[in-house]
Amino acid sequence: MSTSKNNTVFSKNESVRTFQEYLRIPSVQPNIDYSECINFLRRQADLLKLPLKIYEPVPKKPIVIISWYGSERALPGIILNSHMDVVPVFEDKWTYPPFSAHIDEKGNIFARGSQDMKCVGIQYLEAIKRLRKAGVSLRRTIHISFVPDEEIGGHDGMETFVKTADFRALNVGFALDEGMANPTNDYALFNGERFIWQILVRCPGTPGHGSLLLPNTAGEKLHYIIDKFMTFRAKQKARLESDPKLSIGDVTSINLTRLFGGVQNNVVPPELSVVFDIRLAVTMDDVAFEKQILQWCKEAGEGVTIEFLQRNNRAPVTPLDNTNPWWIAFKSVTDELKMNLKPLIFPGGTDSRYIREVGLPAIGFSPMNNTPVLLHDHDEFLNSDVFLRGIDFYEKLIPVIANIEERSG
Ligand code: ZN
Repeated sequence: MSTSKNNTVFSKNESVRTFQEYLRIPSVQPNIDYSECINFLRRQADLLKLPLKIYEPVPKKPIVIISWYGSERALPGIILNSHMDVVPVFEDKWTYPPFSAHIDEKGNIFARGSQDMKCVGIQYLEAIKRLRKAGVSLRRTIHISFVPDEEIGGHDGMETFVKTADFRALNVGFALDEGMANPTNDYALFNGERFIWQILVRCPGTPGHGSLLLPNTAGEKLHYIIDKFMTFRAKQKARLESDPKLSIGDVTSINLTRLFGGVQNNVVPPELSVVFDIRLAVTMDDVAFEKQILQWCKEAGEGVTIEFLQRNNRAPVTPLDNTNPWWIAFKSVTDELKMNLKPLIFPGGTDSRYIREVGLPAIGFSPMNNTPVLLHDHDEFLNSDVFLRGIDFYEKLIPVIANIEERSG
């Protein structure tokens, strides 16, 4: 290890140093200037001797793609995706500055983005660097994509990009994107995501003096509504807690997130309203659930209405069985490396959902086992050995998925 002027310790390992360099770019939300990321990625593409293209379906929101063309370009290829942005930091809560990429004596690299998900982007590149050096050639094309704004919903990034002719021209058949760390020896893997509904329920009622017992008040209706949603929540919570095989991604979560209303302490208000943030399990019957909510509104009393503040579509779940040749290829590599997989439904949202929505299979996987889950947390870190094992994994995986014969996609 060597110490630079500003005290950051750089690894002797070249791949770890490249990772540190990327982590030191403060591509932190909001209002990110992505030019430093682009410059860094251009240098990487030059080292790999691969072409880099930038698409800007939304101005200042670059989609950076490094392509390694296969020998059979008509076959659907693979996109290896990562996002360039990271979430904000509370710097005073960090042991080391969050954009220093400091390595401690245990080899832990501390930085925002070390788990989510600059690690994966560099692992793709470093694996390809080794394969290129070894003179490997592939049948199918690999596109390594670096996208903006995943952390603020991906609307100006992947969501827009997958709908463009440029994306279709990439001829993608399969995608890999981010997963999550796992504290045990198993690797978490995600083949689906819950979908988000955010609902505002308005409860109008008879206004009047706070000393009376008027009929048909907003408060009574709000009480009824909150009670129904919270009862539903309690049932989901009980289901999750009673079955050790279930994880949060397998149940529907409901949280009361905002309350509005009231004018004065002694005035019964003409309206009270409430917002619920709901993440629907992929197994939920959303049509029936919406009917149920409308029924609760009817029961709550006159004039109670709902408004969807956010209503995501259900994205298909990527099958993990013999119908999916990409999965068979993926599994053959993890089996060979004796990596124990733990398939899950992602509890939040990632760019994978936009890829799945356009009908492509996508697996969310960040090769980080024996690692505490620290995405979006203070002192986010990744151990350099875990990081390097991830490169070994992609070095094995990429030729296998890029050489599969099935014309699927
Ligand atoms: Zn992420």
